[in-house]
Amino acid sequence: MLSDPAAAAWRAAGQPTVEGPPPTLGKCGRCGATDLTVASSRIVSEFFTGFEAWPYGSRRLCVPCTWGYTNRPADAKPLLITTDTVTEYSDASHLCEVLTAGALPANSAVVVPAFNKLRRRHHILPTTQWAHLATDTLLFPWDTGAAQRLADLAWLRHSVGASWSQLQRAAPEPKLITTRPHQSWPRILTAWTQLQPWRRIPPLWDAARSLTAPPKP
Ligand SMILES: [Zn+2]
Repeated sequence: MLSDPAAAAWRAAGQPTVEGPPPTLGKCGRCGATDLTVASSRIVSEFFTGFEAWPYGSRRLCVPCTWGYTNRPADAKPLLITTDTVTEYSDASHLCEVLTAGALPANSAVVVPAFNKLRRRHHILPTTQWAHLATDTLLFPWDTGAAQRLADLAWLRHSVGASWSQLQRAAPEPKLITTRPHQSWPRILTAWTQLQPWRRIPPLWDAARSLTAPPKP
């Protein structure tokens, strides 16, 4: 079985150690590994609310899971994680190509921090799963339908010229369509409508915004 993306990212980062007292043998509350662990009170604040996402009961964390909580959420970067690599990007739009190419394979996971830096309040890396996109407060399975919707959104923004504020509406403004060649009208309307479920999931819609933003130099 493949280990989880947070552990793979830790290995790819050179298996960094974590600050604090020497870890002792125990069971990790997050990933279930029986390994060297540290008390979670050393890692997360007393206001941490993510314990319900730890399925293994204990409030200790193994070293790879601990490492997943060490970076401040506000400093999170877009990541592509595979079983033996982790690639950090300056900008989520660099992940658009891989996410529009098709479903994420079972050995890949993607992290997309919130578009608005002030909303980056959660540790995303420990929530990652293979074949999923993880963003603040949401873990989303990345299948071919998701890839198609993202490709449609990129096309609407970059080729049709729809602004982000126009895209909030359930239907395109008539002038956006009527200034385009007649043959493209059905495609615009279909792509626009297909995005409606995503508009209702704010963290996903926010990630889609980052992923389809014009790349920064
Ligand atoms: Zn663990």
